[in-house]
Order: sequence, then C-alpha cells, then structure tokens
Amino acid sequence: MRDPLLLGARFGRCMALALFAATILLLLALREGAHFNAPTTLSIPILMYHHVGDWGETRSDWSPWVVRSKEFQAQMDWLVTHGFRTITFQELLAMSAKHESPPAKSVVITFDDGWAAQEGVVRTELEPRGMHAVLFVYTGAIGPTPNNSGYISWEQLRALEAAGHEVQSHTISHGQLTAMPPSQLEREMRESRATIEKELHHPVEVIAYPYGMHDEQVMRAAANAGYKLGLRADADSAVGEPLQYRMPRIRVGYDDGIDIFAALMDSSQLRVNAQKPMQ
Ligand SMILES: [Zn+2]
Repeated sequence: MRDPLLLGARFGRCMALALFAATILLLLALREGAHFNAPTTLSIPILMYHHVGDWGETRSDWSPWVVRSKEFQAQMDWLVTHGFRTITFQELLAMSAKHESPPAKSVVITFDDGWAAQEGVVRTELEPRGMHAVLFVYTGAIGPTPNNSGYISWEQLRALEAAGHEVQSHTISHGQLTAMPPSQLEREMRESRATIEKELHHPVEVIAYPYGMHDEQVMRAAANAGYKLGLRADADSAVGEPLQYRMPRIRVGYDDGIDIFAALMDSSQLRVNAQKPMQ
C-alpha cells in the first residue's frame, strides 16, 4: 500500500510542474527565421517515455525512466476516454506552416533512445487505440536490420513510419551537448538529422536533447542546424520559461498512478485555456 504522505508529495511535485504548463508549443514562432529563443504561445502536452515494463524496482537506477505496464495502459486508456488524439510533430509543423491551430485535445506521445522494446509497446498499446508515437533515436545506436543490441533498427523504424509513427533526432552519440566543443556539437546536430533523413526520407526538424541538457549555445546550434523545435526531458519551472528550443515534456514516474497522470494532463489543458486564442 502506498504511503499517503508520499503520494501527497508526489502529487504536489506534479502539480508544481504542471502549473508551469507541462508542455507548450509555439506555432506562430515556427516561421522561417524565427529566433532561437522565441517564446511559446500555444500549449500541447508532450508526454515523454523511455521504458514500459515492471522492472523499475529491480533497477532502481533506471526507475525514473520506466513506467509500469499496467500504469502505461491506464494512461493510454485515460487519454482515449478523455477525448485526446495523438498528433506528430510533422503534422504540427505542417499546420504551423499554414497558420492553422492543432485540434483541441491534441497530445504528442514521445519515446526516447530507440530501444527495441519500444516497437512492441507501440504496436500492442498505441496502435489498437488509434494512437501514433514519435520516437527520438540517436543514430549511432541504430543498425540496418533487427539485431541483439537492444536498439531498434532502421528497418523497424521504416515499418513504424509506414504505420503513421514518426522518428526524430536524439543526436548521434547521446552525449552531453552542453559539454561538447562547438564543432562536435554542430556535428551531433547536423549529421544525426542528415542520417535520419537519408534513411527515412522525410524532413527531421525536432531534436530531443540527451538528458534534456541544453544551454544557449545548444539551442542556437539546434536552430542553426535546421531544427524547428528542441525538447527537454522535464517540465521543471526552475529551468525557465518554455521556448521554441526549450520545450518541456511530461515525465511520468514509475509509481505515479492515474491520479497523478490526470492531474498533469488536466493542468496542461487549463494552461491552454488560459492562453490567448491563436490569431
Ligand atoms: Zn535519451
């Protein structure tokens, strides 16, 4: 049984994060030439997942990045029940180019790192619910065909994209971008993008920073490399206001129940309602 004080603390943490708007996406600022630190104007929740499974307790070092299978299923059911529909970044950017707003109750479901097991989660949990995922892969880990590396392959990613899912960049090496010299930073940005575009034949315009680590130099490098959005790995208000190249994402914890998930999603919707309507 869960400790009610612990649950309360967790709920408080989530609410504090959510008050800052779990996720905010600026469409108006996505026009060509937008400044790399343009502010955001429209909220869309972006959920961030890594692993779905029941092994978080046995690997405590990994537990922040694992969500229990039954909790994940409950979260996806909650989204369906509450009228949410998944949207991909390519769809969002296409709407932005036409100055259109995304449908109400849009949500982006992201998976980081390109783990092979994510394919099963997407196939068995998202697709039966009519949902699509965005996978952020780091290209140095991806081989041409399925293998024993633990990582997904280009062949599998092509099949997932054929089913409506989307692949975007998580760099080449998954290194800490903030610790890299400028030449390496630029290469991580540009070559990962070029590799995914060559393998999957579509523009790659969104990057998720490994570990969420970023600074002004990283955000500027992302803009210079042609990305239109840069994503963090948290929604902590202490990081600063949401920017086009500093987009927050909602991380759901291993033991976070549907009550906490609902609070995060409800708060992000409140934030949407508080925003001025799109022009
Ligand atoms: Zn990662």
